[in-house]
Amino acid sequence: MPQFLSHFVDSTPGDPLRDRRPRQVHGALWSKVEPTPVSAPRMVAWSPEVAGMLGLDEATMRSAETTQVLAGNALWPGMVPYAANYGGHQFGHWAGQLGDGRAIVLGELVAPDGSRHELQLKGAGPTPYSRRADGRAVLRSSIREFLCSEAMHHLGVPTTRALSLVATGDSVIRDMFYDGNPQAEPGAIVCRVAPTFLRFGNFELCTSRDDLALLKLLADDTVKRFFPELGAPAKETYAAFYREVARRTAQLIAHWQAVGFVHGVMNTDNMSILGLTIDYGPYGWIDDFDPGWTPNTTDADQRRYRFGNQPTIGLWNIERLGIALMPLFEDDESLVTAGLLEYQRTFEQEATRRFAAKLGLSSVQSEEDVALINGCFAWLAAEETDMTLFFRGLAQVVTTETAPAELPQVVREAFYGEVPDSHVARGVEWLQAWWHRTRREDAPPAELARRMNAVNPKYVLRNWLAQQAIDAAHAGDDSEVHTLLDVMRRPFDEQPGRERFAAKRPDWARSKPGCSALSCSS
Ligand code: AMP
Ligand code: MG
Repeated sequence: MPQFLSHFVDSTPGDPLRDRRPRQVHGALWSKVEPTPVSAPRMVAWSPEVAGMLGLDEATMRSAETTQVLAGNALWPGMVPYAANYGGHQFGHWAGQLGDGRAIVLGELVAPDGSRHELQLKGAGPTPYSRRADGRAVLRSSIREFLCSEAMHHLGVPTTRALSLVATGDSVIRDMFYDGNPQAEPGAIVCRVAPTFLRFGNFELCTSRDDLALLKLLADDTVKRFFPELGAPAKETYAAFYREVARRTAQLIAHWQAVGFVHGVMNTDNMSILGLTIDYGPYGWIDDFDPGWTPNTTDADQRRYRFGNQPTIGLWNIERLGIALMPLFEDDESLVTAGLLEYQRTFEQEATRRFAAKLGLSSVQSEEDVALINGCFAWLAAEETDMTLFFRGLAQVVTTETAPAELPQVVREAFYGEVPDSHVARGVEWLQAWWHRTRREDAPPAELARRMNAVNPKYVLRNWLAQQAIDAAHAGDDSEVHTLLDVMRRPFDEQPGRERFAAKRPDWARSKPGCSALSCSS
């Protein structure tokens, strides 16, 4: 039986009321609330890596009791379930109190190695923060969150993890297209795992209510538990904490850009204080390299959260956090500025380093190198070209005996349609400049190819792949979920026989809901 702690609820102020009615909760960081039972829970899939990390063996994961717990129908001893109270800026505007409307933390599991992990059920029923919604989640969005959490982890991107995906046996009503056509869909619950699910919005809410005592308690507890190296509570410590969050966030977003991940809803309530990818909703993977693309239909007009705008939004969000922390900075604005600079500096460095590595370069040494990288972006964006196939293909070009005289087949295969000759000519010119630059690296081409394959994934959770697994699951077949989970465990390896999972978006998926456009209805 795993051992559970309840540090957060034991040591910070909470809501004295225990009823689930939607309401404003003041002076409290959380509300105790138990999951609402479901009628016929069934374990659809679980992550062997997360189970292993938590010390849950296969027999435990396969037991009926575990399914009951991970469905919210039972608790293990020591679990003290709660929903967190937070606010946030949504699409650029302060939205007030939001909170965990359907996520419930069960408890803090102590792993065999002593590390601590919160287990959180998403879709576990109403909480005081559910506002007018039902507290539930549908199977399609739960499959997407389950698979993507693990796919991101295996790519090396910081993320909340997913232990399990349980079908509830209950249906959930959703108007997926927001067109007045609500449908019953199968419900599901994902058990997410992270050291903490605290967001920028937890801090913002305290300050927005002028509850500076609560802000200080939250900041002190967060630093003590997750940033102990920064020191005891003091203005300088809060400033160092802020800069560290800025640094991690910049690193995270540079990593997203490098793998072609678009979060879709970078509201400040969806920004982890640990710099993890959190809250997988209408996210998407870039197929063709289009900086203007957003998967989120709710954002289709403004495109605030488009691929190319994620770095800027990260900065904007860091500024919101800085403003929320101002009382702890004793209103010293220069500390906010320092955080913003930290973000910009880190992003610049990390994005450059990552894209250089994708091109086989160990460092960026000159203005020409910068121009080479920018030239690559400009060429990729000019005609529909698959980002993942393009970068993966370069490892085959780097090993050719001479500079390419024409566009190699692997690069041509990354195009989604016909391209003009002038575009091909520009591509050849760019490839030649790049190929010659790679000869100045201090490693043989075969070694460069090896390094490139270790940073340019072959397999990413393309939107249409996830959608196929969803369609199969709706038809009663969970095997595609299992296969995809398994493929995404080794994204950088060639996996013979599984090439179809590395294919570019098929034509049927170009404008199919779930493949190119996703609503927030989940
Ligand atoms: P999101 O855009 O998914 O990050 O959600 C924003 C806010 O809406 C959060 O406070 C969520 O807890 C809440 N929320 C989203 N879906 C539901 C739901 N089905 N039931 C209750 N609250 C929800
Ligand atoms: Mg959220």
